[in-house]
Amino acid sequence: MLSSVRVTASRLLSGASASRPSSEPLFRAFSATSSGACNSPLSRSVLSSTHSVSAASAHSWTQSSLYHRSTSPCQSATSYSAVRGATELTKDDIVLELLPEEKRRQPPENYLQLNFGEHFTDHMFMVEYDANVKGGSWHSPKIVPYQSLKLDPAALVLHYGQEAFEGMKAYGHQDGKVALFRPRDNFLRLNQTNHRLAMPPLDEEFMVEALKKLVRVDSRWVPHVPLASLYIRPTVIATEAVLGVKVSKKYLCYVIMCPSGPYFKSGFEPVDILVNEAYTRASLRGLGAAKTASNYAAAILAEHECKKEGFAQCLYLDSVERRYVEEIGAMNVFFVLDGKELITPRLTGSILAGITRRTVLELGEYWGLRVTERRTSIKEVIRGIQSGRVTEAFGTGTAAAICPIGMIQYRGTKYEINQHKTGPVARRLFDHITGVQAGKIEDEFNWLEYVNVE
Ligand SMILES: *Cc1c(COP(=O)(O)O)cnc(C)c1O
Repeated sequence: MLSSVRVTASRLLSGASASRPSSEPLFRAFSATSSGACNSPLSRSVLSSTHSVSAASAHSWTQSSLYHRSTSPCQSATSYSAVRGATELTKDDIVLELLPEEKRRQPPENYLQLNFGEHFTDHMFMVEYDANVKGGSWHSPKIVPYQSLKLDPAALVLHYGQEAFEGMKAYGHQDGKVALFRPRDNFLRLNQTNHRLAMPPLDEEFMVEALKKLVRVDSRWVPHVPLASLYIRPTVIATEAVLGVKVSKKYLCYVIMCPSGPYFKSGFEPVDILVNEAYTRASLRGLGAAKTASNYAAAILAEHECKKEGFAQCLYLDSVERRYVEEIGAMNVFFVLDGKELITPRLTGSILAGITRRTVLELGEYWGLRVTERRTSIKEVIRGIQSGRVTEAFGTGTAAAICPIGMIQYRGTKYEINQHKTGPVARRLFDHITGVQAGKIEDEFNWLEYVNVE
């Protein structure tokens, strides 16, 4: 079963790599490493001696592992290990400064009433980078009580936005286990964002281990309630205090976590979307493919106006021709044609390569649906809705997994999809993905990685 998946995936990839323009992001199809597969020292892609070299090599490592899903990602890391720098962190280097038991707080209990992102767990992870330490290295990793940052007001991140972040979740199972969903993919993507922002890469194997340690320390905060989870926010910021515009010499990477209730509070209901032509979210060869604050800054007014008009999110068109569909809010977007073909915009450089997006592509392919990544114009979408060819539309992202779209408003006209009801493909994807995450459906693709919480 798994081998057939590999075959189809590598076919997809080889086709994609042959025609891929060099400016296209590499993230789309990198190898999904399965849990625990990469414990050999060679796989410890790390921290090389100079920042620019290491960023470039992270890129080539990514590239080499991208197109060979069927080969072990551990093997493809060999060339990367050759440029490994002097400093190599392991999980044993992480210093624990934990709160005494009596100072730890009681996690919230009613996850249905929980506002997202307001309650943080007792601890956080931190690791610092300094270009002047051992020729540039991450150092002093620690897990400490959740706390405010001490940041110089001139810190580069506050002025020029040199920042990267990730969004991922830990899921509590009924049997007490705690699982992460494709966590390496998040840290690989974080490195791609770091690269685009001229920031040094982090060893993703180390980061997964550090995260597991943090989740373990705060494991009482992991909800074991259907569709609730512990949201995880890794962040990297430029901390050097200087107002000159330049690449920072110092960074802080930290990970904070907050319990999160079910995304759909009143059932798995479709949302309304506005095609917002007044604003562009991301420009070609800009930062749209990077998970960085400025993309959100560019969209915040658009989203605010959408919400005021009663829409859940905006749909953004490409910035060059203003014709092609790119993303909705902070989600990737899919359309279902005739109930059996899945279409999503190709990653052109201004679209974020979602891990849920890839999960949907892989599942769709596995289930025998036709899956196509291609440019999709808003005109084609509207015509497809009118003719009945577009039978469903939905967004994908870690927060919701799948978010069905019931109506799209374009130039003043409302276009309803599937009578504003959740369609069978969205339902099946949602049930399957959330079922695997919750440990209720067999994890055939090895997407889950367990945290040892005893
Ligand atoms: C994070 C994000 C997504 C979704 O990515 P997932 O990995 O699926 O959570 C989509 N679009 C944007 C702009 C994002 O920032």
